Amino acid sequence: MVTRANSSEKAIALEGKYGAHNYHPLPVVLTKGEGVYVYDVEGRKYFDFLSAYSAVNQGHSHPRILKALISQSERLTLTSRAFYNDVLGPYEKMATETFNFDKLLPMNTGAEAVETALKIARRWAYQKKGIAEGMAKIVVCENNFHGRTTTIISFSTDRTAKNEFGPFTEGFEVIAYDDLKALEQLLIKDSNIAAFLVEPIQGEAGVYVPSDKYLKQAKALCEKHNVLFIADEVQTGIARTGKLLATCGNCDCSDRHCSGEPEVKPDILVLGKALSGGTYPVSAVLANNNIMDVITPGSHGSTFGGNPVAAAVAMEALSVIKDEKLAKNAFELGELFRSELHPLVAANPLVKGIRGKGLLNAILINDTEESDTAWNICLALKENGLIAKPTHGNIIRFAPPLIISKEELIESTSIICSTINAFAEVEV
Ligand SMILES: *Cc1c(COP(=O)(O)O)cnc(C)c1O
Repeated sequence: MVTRANSSEKAIALEGKYGAHNYHPLPVVLTKGEGVYVYDVEGRKYFDFLSAYSAVNQGHSHPRILKALISQSERLTLTSRAFYNDVLGPYEKMATETFNFDKLLPMNTGAEAVETALKIARRWAYQKKGIAEGMAKIVVCENNFHGRTTTIISFSTDRTAKNEFGPFTEGFEVIAYDDLKALEQLLIKDSNIAAFLVEPIQGEAGVYVPSDKYLKQAKALCEKHNVLFIADEVQTGIARTGKLLATCGNCDCSDRHCSGEPEVKPDILVLGKALSGGTYPVSAVLANNNIMDVITPGSHGSTFGGNPVAAAVAMEALSVIKDEKLAKNAFELGELFRSELHPLVAANPLVKGIRGKGLLNAILINDTEESDTAWNICLALKENGLIAKPTHGNIIRFAPPLIISKEELIESTSIICSTINAFAEVEV
């Protein structure tokens, strides 16, 4: 039996009293999801424009993914990696073929997968690049978001995420995002650099899209200096930005509409979030043999990583992305989304701009980061049947499930436009 709070008020009060206050949620209590919609405990229906930070790309409760989850759960849930299971191998084969890498290392959360990539890069630096042990450095970008573990926040530049959690892990160099000069200077100066860790679009920072050639040229610089290029596609991957991967290095984009985009093949690819369609924590690190072979028995692991349920769910979640051509839908409806919002951006002084790729977009509210304008707009959007959340105070990210139809997208953009226009009138 599942015990549920029977009103929004009660659910919020219980979390407030018994839960740690590590989030500040929008005051909406959800009890059901279906496709692009979620429902609150009072029965109100909303467009979900967060998609659990892009974990629910395939839509809420996708029937095929649920079926995989349920049927595998009834059969075998966990063996640990002390023994083999009969689903992990087929999943690893499918995922490595899909993303075009030799090997996959399975983990559970995005942060764990990033940690894994950092460990692999450091080992590679000692065993293959010849850096003296303990000296390897990893280059990261300002305003990065890679998760919440102690090592990862050690190189965060967000004081809220980092303050008073030290002492921190050493061996990281921070440079500006989208700054090739800074990267080049550092690579020339320092021969102890093992890897460059980067988000193809900075999602949490506020959907910062780098200039067109940035990733490709950063990769070329890394190659020149024998430095691994690690792409954290936990948020941008799995079709979110209109391609299977935002880096899209000859991955299996069966519906090839990537033409004209710079293609980059990372040395290490980090995936999470929508790898399971939001039904289960599944993350992965992919690399070729010359890199992945630094990981040997006993040197890394996770009790739940690669469990049969995760493997079954991830296989189905990836199949859904391909079968339903969700990369193509994200690409086309992303264009439509930005063009539908263009009149708002042009005419309403409250909105300074819009940016994004595919269905990962954000609008910039014309107010300070400390203001509560974006939060209040999100409250008004909620009243009108669409939920989204500000990131960094004055930016609102819009990231619906990729299964959204053209009609649903147009209905959503008209909610966004009318809400913000009405909001502006009240405010002025
Ligand atoms: C969400 C996210 C992570 C962390 O994933 P968790 O599952 O929350 O640990 C890492 N990198 C990026 C780019 C993310 O968006």
